[in-house]
Amino acid sequence: MSISIFDIIKVGVGPSSSHTMGPWLAAQQCLKDFSAQHDLTKIEQVRVLLYGSLAKTGKGHGTDVAVQLGLSGYDYKTMDTQLIQQVINEIAQTNTLKLRQKQLITFNPNIHIEFHTAISLPGHPNGMQFVLETYEKEIFSFTYYSIGGGFISSDGEHTATLPDHNFPYPIQKGEDLLRFCNEYNFDVINLIERNELSLRSKEDIDAQLLLLWETMKDSIYRGCHAQGILPGGLNVMRRAAKLHHNLMKGYFYENENQWLVYLRSQNPTFNDILQWVSCFALAVNEENAAFGRIVTAPTNGAAGVVPAVLMYYYCFGEKVSEDKVKEFLMVAGQIGSIFKQGATISAAMGGCQAEIGVSSAMAAAALTHCLGGSIAHCLMAAEIAMEHHLGLTCDPVGGLVQIPCIERNSMGAVKAITAASLALNSDPKAAKVSLDAVVKTMWETALDMNHKYKETSEGGLALHIPVNLIEC
Ligand code: SF4
Repeated sequence: MSISIFDIIKVGVGPSSSHTMGPWLAAQQCLKDFSAQHDLTKIEQVRVLLYGSLAKTGKGHGTDVAVQLGLSGYDYKTMDTQLIQQVINEIAQTNTLKLRQKQLITFNPNIHIEFHTAISLPGHPNGMQFVLETYEKEIFSFTYYSIGGGFISSDGEHTATLPDHNFPYPIQKGEDLLRFCNEYNFDVINLIERNELSLRSKEDIDAQLLLLWETMKDSIYRGCHAQGILPGGLNVMRRAAKLHHNLMKGYFYENENQWLVYLRSQNPTFNDILQWVSCFALAVNEENAAFGRIVTAPTNGAAGVVPAVLMYYYCFGEKVSEDKVKEFLMVAGQIGSIFKQGATISAAMGGCQAEIGVSSAMAAAALTHCLGGSIAHCLMAAEIAMEHHLGLTCDPVGGLVQIPCIERNSMGAVKAITAASLALNSDPKAAKVSLDAVVKTMWETALDMNHKYKETSEGGLALHIPVNLIEC
């Protein structure tokens, strides 16, 4: 597979890449597949059947909301997130839905979206079917799997529909990265760029990287200034704003730019740095939990780790340029692609090691590169970060991406910074564990992990925290 860095790090919407963005995309895809052969005006009724993990935690993860928006023709990359609740309320109140904003059908979410918690489809725990019935009573059924990070597939984990394209320097493992860099005397950025240039222009690469960075900064800024209770009924208070307020110590600013200039002028203590990193990560994941605009990296549940570490580097590193920010994102994306190919980035397949663990490894390698480490140091940092997330389970309380997810992003970010520091102070030649060994171990751990700990909310914290959901 040729997985672009922009397949791993992309603009998204909360709260879940596998349970929100994937089903949203699948809903769009089923109408696209149907329209390739038939006229949309033939459709009288649509039923959505959710299975496995999508059925068990779909309500808390917004899967039902996502499929309605996808069927309605909205794109999660561009939709104004402020409109989401309005569109969903209209469907519920009128019991109608306009397919692709064109074909009006009767649609009652309580009847036409079915949660089959006792059934799992064979290809992947996140299976779903869209059953389209025409006025002539013909039935068309489309099955998709949401395989993590917003990827969808029609038949299972490793068969996602990706561009039919081969990179000039295909990188599946850490050893490929090392080999190409050594054989051709490439800098790692040069190598990643050569592959991306086979898909898009240099201008496009730069523009996409800057868009990702702008979106990350905006999500941190919004999260640092939003207060109140997160949606979903768990009554989880947002915490980033209070932490941020304390850290700003009364400094006055009028906009995001002034705020950033102030942050970059600071020389924080170790304790302040720890709090800032936590604050950045909490801010993003609180926005994610509230259906906000975030950057999926490599998933939404783990969307706070890479931005928190990048923001830490940008604000408190020495003379960090925009080019360095772009390099950070490129290395992070490349490491994520290695995990996607060698293991999984789906919590329903591998637990939270596949989300927070992978994002921490991505951030660790990226920070190591930006602080002057060699490619061998970067691989070592990614390995260290993942090694200490192996076996991490996924047990979201109430099926919502809030507890333990939001705090877990802070922990993943801090571990990434520690891993980078350890790697930079080590000789990679003396390392006993390679990145490829840890990727293999992660995948084997995923296969051995009890299904209770794979985004089902049937084990761990999800069982032991009293949940009194007001709404879902
Ligand atoms: S526990 Fe981890 S993997 Fe599971 S939903 Fe939360 S962040 Fe995602």
